[in-house]
Amino acid sequence: MLAMRIVDVQNQIDHELITHDEIVKKIEEVAAQASEDYKNTVPLVICVLKGAANTMTCFAQAMSINVELDYMSLSSYGAGTSSSGTITVRQDLSCDVRGRDVLIVEDIIDSGRTLRWLVDELNKRGAKSVEIFALLEKPARRVVDVDVKYKGFEIPDEFVVGFGLDYDEKYRNLDSIAVLKPQVYEGAEQ
Ligand code: 5GP
Ligand code: MG
Ligand code: MG
Repeated sequence: MLAMRIVDVQNQIDHELITHDEIVKKIEEVAAQASEDYKNTVPLVICVLKGAANTMTCFAQAMSINVELDYMSLSSYGAGTSSSGTITVRQDLSCDVRGRDVLIVEDIIDSGRTLRWLVDELNKRGAKSVEIFALLEKPARRVVDVDVKYKGFEIPDEFVVGFGLDYDEKYRNLDSIAVLKPQVYEGAEQ
């Protein structure tokens, strides 16, 4: 049963994969662990826009320690549903990461290229430590090796939307994670 707060106007959602309550519960568990791990520092929590915005808000609110938040917009996709491998910075951080304990919040790790690039970049900029929280992970699609310390859910190799994740900028406001009907993006990719 599809539990959506928005109407699937174009009838493009196939099925719900992870409910809102399951997502929030998982994020709260990760936040509790991260709060313990970072209790002796003030971590700089970096949200990879736009997809991780929902996760970031939920995660930061569930943390029980002081954190600083910053945002970065990266693009790894062309028009379709697979990573192009070329990372573009659309909007950079507003703060210096030098000497900081950085925790990246990302919506999904697919090929791993985006996070590999970002971890390397933050290390180059002099971060003291860099760890990752990825809400979703598609293990079958991994091309590049990246160490994800905080993991949400492993999902099958299907294109998902909701809770921040988009297709063609839509469905970010869906409050759960859902699988789009393949016919929606088939043909748009090639
Ligand atoms: P990677 O560089 O790991 O291949 O791709 C990571 C980025 O691709 C994610 O941050 C996300 O923006 C996008 N992405 C990967 N898989 C999906 C998916 O199933 N649905 C959506 N909406 N975006 C995805
Ligand atoms: Mg992302
Ligand atoms: Mg996207």
